[in-house]
Amino acid sequence: MTAVQTLAGGPHLEQIRRLVTEVPGPRSRELAARRSAALPAGLASAAPVYAAAAGGGVLVDVDGNSFIDLGSGIAVTTVGNSAPRVVERASRQLEKFTHTCFLATPYEPYIEVAEALNRLTPGDHEKRTALFNTGSEALENAVKYARAATGRPAVVTFDHAFHGRTLLTMSMTAKNQPYKSTFGPFAPEVYRAPMAYPYRWPSGAEHATNEAFAQFELLVDSQVGADNVACVVVEPIQGEGGFIVPADGFLRKVADFCRARGILVVADEVQTGIARTGAWFACEHEGLVPDLITSAKGLAGGLPLAAVTGRADVMDAAHAGGIGGTYSGNPASCEAALGVLETIEAEGLLTRAQLIGDFMVRELRDIAAQTPVIGEVRGRGAMIAAELVIPGSRTPNREAVAQITRFCQLHGVLTLSAGTYGNVLRFLPPLSISDALLADAFAVLRDAFAAL
Ligand SMILES: *Cc1c(COP(=O)(O)O)cnc(C)c1O
Repeated sequence: MTAVQTLAGGPHLEQIRRLVTEVPGPRSRELAARRSAALPAGLASAAPVYAAAAGGGVLVDVDGNSFIDLGSGIAVTTVGNSAPRVVERASRQLEKFTHTCFLATPYEPYIEVAEALNRLTPGDHEKRTALFNTGSEALENAVKYARAATGRPAVVTFDHAFHGRTLLTMSMTAKNQPYKSTFGPFAPEVYRAPMAYPYRWPSGAEHATNEAFAQFELLVDSQVGADNVACVVVEPIQGEGGFIVPADGFLRKVADFCRARGILVVADEVQTGIARTGAWFACEHEGLVPDLITSAKGLAGGLPLAAVTGRADVMDAAHAGGIGGTYSGNPASCEAALGVLETIEAEGLLTRAQLIGDFMVRELRDIAAQTPVIGEVRGRGAMIAAELVIPGSRTPNREAVAQITRFCQLHGVLTLSAGTYGNVLRFLPPLSISDALLADAFAVLRDAFAAL
């Protein structure tokens, strides 16, 4: 496969769905065998193929099969894989210096990213930004800032939340399997409130906001005590939980309640942020201005970078030397992030995310009209999901998600699943995907539902 080895990624990769071997092909099977001898079992991958190149809307595997990418490496390559501005800026930086440690000798790209995020995040109050490597690390630090600023210990999160895999963020995450099982004991002072999940609210979607809020209020005021709560951490659209868009007004009620009690609101926009939902940040759809906001996945086009952006008085509450990390705010990652932000602005990707989302919702509603397996289609912008159920009920249909995913893989389309019950198909295409490829991918998806 020498032809494959010379493939370069990026938008110049041929934009086509094409299978030239069975899936997985011989090279992928060979790598799978080496992998199982060298890597531990706890690292699972969604697709059975190994990547050789990616860009635009496709991912080419080591056997030369070209797949349409509807996952963007879990909402990371929003501007596309190897996007030109990202590659150019990061490579130029790599030639200048790869690392000094910002805590040892600082550099300008870090400051530029902070300035950009201070400008782009919701609210025109004075802000500060600190950079980290991963989403989990950003959440860990958001809690450190909130505790330092309030002098309070407790953190409130929600059912179906995902905030990461480190000890604190695993404790904040709702789902036992696969994230928590056997890994406890967990960090203390983490409390969980119900999420206003419209599709599954027991008394009906129209009651979700008020009833979920009443339970949240009871938890904070009567059980934990508002004076003990440093922050409420919430994803404006829950990602791993199944692209749950909280019932209308729920987030605003929570935010108003918190403001009245000196509790800080942390919006976890690690998955929703940086243009994914058709806005720079998903909070904007709700008119929500959080005290702190975390971003990561879409921020640097795949290079590790995460951020906490927040009110200057809150961020300045942590003492000098109390925050940081050896690799935090790596200079090549910072340049990549500047390339991402430039690309979003230059290519009008906020609008593009909305258009891609409109198309996916139309297609999925159309498929739903023909199959009772789709219980609900939801999401915002280019972050859209279908929740699959046993026909005639709301019983989660995990098996259907597995079958659709497999069918799509065998026909050259890479999709992802999500959801507390594993019964949600989620679609996160790179915004660099063409209309033609997207339509082709959804034609395959139609066939997948027809074949169920
Ligand atoms: C992915 C994710 C995280 C964790 O990010 P990592 O980079 O995997 O540590 C946290 N919060 C949300 C909402 C996420 O989607």
